[in-house]
Amino acid sequence: MTDPINGELRLGVDLGGSKIEAVALEECGTVRWRERVITPRGDYDATVDAVGGLVDRAERELGRRGRVGVGAPGSISPATGLHRNANSTCLNGRPLHADLERRLARRIRLSNDANCFALSEATLGAARGARVVFGVILGTGVGGGVVVDGRVLDGHNGIAGEWGHNPMPGTDRAERDARRCYCGQRGCREMFLAGPALEAEYRARCGEERSLAAIAERAPSGGDAAAATVIAGLVEGLARSLAEVVNLLDPDCIVLGGGVSNVPALPREVSARLAGLVFADVCTTPVVPAALGDASGVFGAAML
Ligand SMILES: [Zn+2]
Repeated sequence: MTDPINGELRLGVDLGGSKIEAVALEECGTVRWRERVITPRGDYDATVDAVGGLVDRAERELGRRGRVGVGAPGSISPATGLHRNANSTCLNGRPLHADLERRLARRIRLSNDANCFALSEATLGAARGARVVFGVILGTGVGGGVVVDGRVLDGHNGIAGEWGHNPMPGTDRAERDARRCYCGQRGCREMFLAGPALEAEYRARCGEERSLAAIAERAPSGGDAAAATVIAGLVEGLARSLAEVVNLLDPDCIVLGGGVSNVPALPREVSARLAGLVFADVCTTPVVPAALGDASGVFGAAML
């Protein structure tokens, strides 16, 4: 039996800090090929070559050439064309986009991994059908992306949706000053809402080391006051942060992704709190968990 071939092949590559995953999709969304390799951490040239190798293999095995989209941490500086802001720091200051195009001998689309997440959820996932989507990544860092009518909004400076590095609303100066961020500022949202920040806060409150999943499990029982405080702070902090997004952008849907979004009931509780914080008589904005899980980055890259 031969498979139907519908239009152009789309190759998506999710370049992560620990793994690089690639997928080949038909235009209709059917998956033809998928593979992941370990990221050659800290080795820029080997990283570029690993992305190239995945695309080579997909095209050889499928016997077709495709359009390539790559999702990576950080973004391209419109001023210099060099990569910046990536937590995989070997990419920073390097012409990643140009080097990938040279290695693959074609033009490619490169975008931030949070943008890829927002795009996949807006087209195939939890926000399917919504016109304006704000996709939130709450994991080891806090990122975000905006999709309008099925297209990523890059923004004038290439940072649209990067809401993790503004001061955390609802905190005082002393609280913010106590949390120095790697970006050079103090009191960024990422220092309050990212997984490591929540685990550090729990440790500071009760002296015990627990994963966020374990903290979330202990919070509702009433027996662990520190856990309850940390999770209540997450709900309040996230709701206050998203209220600013609603006042500014008023998206049709907010999708929560990343490890922190697995805290049970987080979307529902944040949604309930949001109504009291936005500058409107009602707030009916859906706040929903991501539907595509781990796969959203690579699918979003393919849709670029
Ligand atoms: Zn910061």
